[in-house]
Amino acid sequence: MEVRIHRILTGSRANGPGIRNVVWFQGCTLRCPGCFNPQTHAPHGGQSINVEELCDRLLSPFHPCDGITISGGEPFQQAEALLNLLQELQKQKAPPILVFSGYSYNELRNNPVSAACLPFIDALICGPYDRKTPPVYERFCSSGNQELVLLSERYTENDFRNLPVMEYFFDDSGNVIISGINS
Ligand code: SF4
Repeated sequence: MEVRIHRILTGSRANGPGIRNVVWFQGCTLRCPGCFNPQTHAPHGGQSINVEELCDRLLSPFHPCDGITISGGEPFQQAEALLNLLQELQKQKAPPILVFSGYSYNELRNNPVSAACLPFIDALICGPYDRKTPPVYERFCSSGNQELVLLSERYTENDFRNLPVMEYFFDDSGNVIISGINS
């Protein structure tokens, strides 16, 4: 199965607990005012990649990590591919998985394909970004209306406290990119 992605980043420290390998899915129709990642909205932007290849890149032995983060864009707008990726990551014994979503936990639970993804996810940060609601860094949320939902025992709320919220890195073309929940 193919999935459209915006970017992969290895060795991130501002996208969840510890050192993380991150993929941003491409495509989002939610249009939260003030969104940090408008370049991820176009459904046909980014690049298409096979899910197995994506999994191999996220779990590359050259980039050991403490966890995998899946962000966007809106990952659940490619829910079949997301499920496929999560199953593949589990098969390969991936470290804990954090997923960011603009949908609320209730919306995700009430959609059959999204709900099928939840047992493979360790933590969710979910709900639409609201620039009028200040961030809550104790829950690692870029706006206070968002929820941190722990879905397994691999994380506790404490793991999400006092994390870096912004980082800089270079893309393949040498451009400086800002990443993290306060970027
Ligand atoms: S869900 Fe995320 S990517 Fe989509 S508009 Fe909202 S903040 Fe931006």
